[in-house]
Amino acid sequence: MSELARQLPSAAPAVRRVPLAEPNLRGREAEYLRECVESGWVSSIGRFVTDFERALAARVGVPHALSTCNGTTALHLALAALRVGPGDDVVVPDLTFAACANAILYCGARPILVDVRADDLGLDVDLVRRALTPRTRAVLAVHLYGHPCDLSGLLTLCRERRLALVEDVAEALGAEYDGAAAGGFGDVACFSFYGNKVITTGEGGACVTRDAELNQRMTFLRDHGMRKDRRYWHDEVGFNYRLTNLQAAVGLAQIERLDELVEAKRRNARRYLARLAGSGLGLPGESARVRSVFWMFNALLPERLAPRRAELAARLLARGVETRPIFYPLHEMPPYRDFAPVDAAFPVASAVAARGLSLPSATTLGEDDVDYVCDVLLEELERG
Ligand SMILES: *Cc1c(COP(=O)(O)O)cnc(C)c1O
Repeated sequence: MSELARQLPSAAPAVRRVPLAEPNLRGREAEYLRECVESGWVSSIGRFVTDFERALAARVGVPHALSTCNGTTALHLALAALRVGPGDDVVVPDLTFAACANAILYCGARPILVDVRADDLGLDVDLVRRALTPRTRAVLAVHLYGHPCDLSGLLTLCRERRLALVEDVAEALGAEYDGAAAGGFGDVACFSFYGNKVITTGEGGACVTRDAELNQRMTFLRDHGMRKDRRYWHDEVGFNYRLTNLQAAVGLAQIERLDELVEAKRRNARRYLARLAGSGLGLPGESARVRSVFWMFNALLPERLAPRRAELAARLLARGVETRPIFYPLHEMPPYRDFAPVDAAFPVASAVAARGLSLPSATTLGEDDVDYVCDVLLEELERG
């Protein structure tokens, strides 16, 4: 505090602020960015792009990683490279971020909405099986809120029915299934590095795959569909979905600290689980085959409080605790309403969406922050 500030009468005590998420840039981010600026390599060519892609591939345990300008373009690129197009159906969970359905629609294909399982909020394989049509080309499986979905069940089904499996790992970098990294199971997996994700590049994304041919096709489509051996010659309509060296510089510094960031998320989750047990809130689990990254820690309000979730959130915010409702089910929103199969019901997605509240999950939180959130939340629940 400055001398002057010390002499002034103290203002009202500032409300403590506990963020839902915030970038954690305490590593070599600034140093790497400076290298970009000083070297002039600020666009999409440069050592950080290749170093970041290599580091990501190594982390997921696959041979190929291709960076993109965000997670949505990663999903679109993956589906386009798989030649998903008009006349095709792609299965997608009803409870997910809208970008999943959008990417399918960008391809001219039809998203088929399927309900999720209550225990991990991932696709329910039995329901997926029932939703398949002769037009189904692919399943877009999401590891929602950092918990891997039923990869073994979905892989078996996709192999049996010759469907492509696309993993959306936007929220689950660092998560594991049967001891292997999420993102290494599907034909292709897509990541996001938006500001609130496990690691960030500001905006950014990536596609990873074991399939060299698919990787080549994604590279081609990402770079305008331009022929490698003939500059400015285009055989197909491609995209410019590249990440910049500046963004990749931040990404490399971030992925160097991935273990630390994941441990911070898991530490927050352990504290929440210990402090909120027995409170009447529904709390997330971690199935035996899985290591979750608890990207966002969600509490499900008791049913009687669900209608007053917004009011509760406002009371929490007034005391500095940021929260966010869980995603709305896709089938409830105008652009996606028509893609629910006629006989489909979404009891799990609807109930979770009505009751769920994401609690502060930033990797920058200390145990005292999580304790403060729990104290405030328990007090406000008590007040009803
Ligand atoms: C964030 C997110 C995306 C989209 O990523 P952007 O980088 O924001 O385009 C896609 N799917 C899921 C599940 C996400 O959470």
